[in-house]
Amino acid sequence: MAYNAGFDMVPRLSTSLEDKKLWRKFINAIKEEFRDDTNFYVTGDYIEFDVGGRPKLPFEGHKFLSFSVSTGAGQADVGNGLYLAIVVRIAAEHFGMNRVQPWHEASGGRSYYGPAEVHESILSYSQIDEPSSTATTTPAPLSSTTTAPPLFQITTLPTKGRALVAQAAIRKGTRILSERPLFTLDGRDCHDVIGAIASKLKALRRPEQDRFLTLSNSKRSDASMHPFLGTYITNSLPCSRNPAGTAYYHHGAGAQPAEPDATGIFPTISLLNHSCVPNTCYSFNTRTRHGTVHALRAIPAGEELTIAYLDDDAPRADRRERLQFGFDFACACTACSLPAAQQAASDTRRKHIHVLRSSGVREKPPPRNSAAAATAADLFPLRTLHNCHMLIELLRQEYGEAARLSGVYDTALRTCLAHRDAARTGVFAWRVYEALAVELGEDSPLAQEMRDLAADPTGSQRWETTSADWRTTSEAVPGGSDIEEFERWLFRL
Ligand SMILES: [Zn+2]
Repeated sequence: MAYNAGFDMVPRLSTSLEDKKLWRKFINAIKEEFRDDTNFYVTGDYIEFDVGGRPKLPFEGHKFLSFSVSTGAGQADVGNGLYLAIVVRIAAEHFGMNRVQPWHEASGGRSYYGPAEVHESILSYSQIDEPSSTATTTPAPLSSTTTAPPLFQITTLPTKGRALVAQAAIRKGTRILSERPLFTLDGRDCHDVIGAIASKLKALRRPEQDRFLTLSNSKRSDASMHPFLGTYITNSLPCSRNPAGTAYYHHGAGAQPAEPDATGIFPTISLLNHSCVPNTCYSFNTRTRHGTVHALRAIPAGEELTIAYLDDDAPRADRRERLQFGFDFACACTACSLPAAQQAASDTRRKHIHVLRSSGVREKPPPRNSAAAATAADLFPLRTLHNCHMLIELLRQEYGEAARLSGVYDTALRTCLAHRDAARTGVFAWRVYEALAVELGEDSPLAQEMRDLAADPTGSQRWETTSADWRTTSEAVPGGSDIEEFERWLFRL
């Protein structure tokens, strides 16, 4: 029987200079103590112990709430308890016995802080929130992993192998995971991909190498394909500024220099299985250089966490064929297991969604500042807006609360912006922001940009219009509480 044990900092530290100094002293004492320990790692943002529960100590003390290890009767577990005892002792020496509060589940103790709170705090270790923190702008030489947090656990499912399963109820928009890739590949590696993987693997420490080597390989029956390559193809995810491999997440003026499209392998995120109606979505945050996974809807405890491997809305037969070919499994997700009548309805909806998207209501529109030819938004604004309205309806029917709407709202936004409709541009920008805060997280550069646009549509660099046919000012947004009436105004129905 394994138990968690740990200690909390109560009350937590502030951002005052005094607390910062104290925490730095404490961290230095920990580094000194474990200097020669092979289970002790220092990353760009925190210290990590490679023992049960992979506990961490951040470099910024105000982010710290709780430190915990899993302990038990086994010899390794006793060792874990010893690590805890040493850290508790050093913490008590620096912060006093009253502020450092140890607990042990075996004797009925538990953390003073709730699991969700602790989870959030651990994720924040790698988030930039202080200009003084330079650590996060330098990627750690060895990749780091997020502790298997209490929000989910990694289990083995009979038909699927390893899977992430929610351990607690997860709210919509929750950042479930944020981790650095084990390694990435980009265009510079394409001349010798296998060689590049081999040399990148070599630079990792053993546990990290194992994380790659134990991932599934959907191409294993293909004798001509090197296992490294098969494993990479099966598990890699986009890691560039532009998470979907298209131009959508391109920034406008003041953009960062272009970077090659990179993909990477993640220690935990790469374990997520597929669903054609996923409950989470993956994206790469270019500011923190971390892959993130967010809940697209409320997820009850016990439900498997899933992402979509296919980036479109194809009917069932087409999806299954591509999943079988690309990932070597027969999809049995809820969308693929519907009764015949509902299945037919789903297929029809997806065909409509596909048609609407390709009519100019694209999920990933082209860069706004590009000199591309006039779009449907420029030429047929009213039809485009009506198509957006219908597309939103269909996506809600097909994906429910988990529908990803940022792209459609973005098209609606561009349509209104192109024709000087400041009132609707502001409303749609706010909706894009809200959707992106769920899909990518509030701290994603694109979400921030949308919030600025929503606050001041005409002040934006984006305010480049093709006509003044729909001219309004921001004040023109109607008041009142009739939601349907508001939507009719918004979409010009
Ligand atoms: Zn499916």
